[in-house]
Amino acid sequence: KEKTLAMIKPDGLLGNYTERIKEVIVDYGFSILREITAQLDQDSAASFYAEHSSRSFFPSLIKYMTSGPVLVMLLEKENAIADWRTLIGPTDACKAKITHPNSIRAMCGQDSEKNCVHGSDSLLSAQREISFFFEDVSSG
Ligand code: ATP
Repeated sequence: KEKTLAMIKPDGLLGNYTERIKEVIVDYGFSILREITAQLDQDSAASFYAEHSSRSFFPSLIKYMTSGPVLVMLLEKENAIADWRTLIGPTDACKAKITHPNSIRAMCGQDSEKNCVHGSDSLLSAQREISFFFEDVSSG
């Protein structure tokens, strides 16, 4: 089975979407192997999103991601990485509400920044992100 990293971002926790999101996760056959709540600081958020460091939205993204705690989950199922990305929907939650109304971002996101959840987008990023939060897990 494959593992991926899922995160409920600060707006998701603040809006009390955690239980609804977890219901969807379990309904779709994912196992939640681990979960931790974390308050990201500037350095850890910048490191997590290092690939976006040159983007114009980066300072705002760091502010958003450090604005409150996040819930990080280690998910497992067959095809977990692609299936979790499908389930969360497109980056822009406004568009998701129109094009992917059943997605998690359509359910609880607000716009292209405050989109409520994160998911690793490849095997390589899943491995990097899993070891970022769960040092002892070998992500295979
Ligand atoms: P994530 O990596 O969080 O799962 P993603 O892969 O759908 O999201 P990325 O392009 O990797 O999207 O962007 C990372 C995050 O940066 C987005 O989830 C969003 O919070 C923020 N972001 C992306 N594009 C924009 C934008 N145009 N304006 C503001 N914030 C943005």
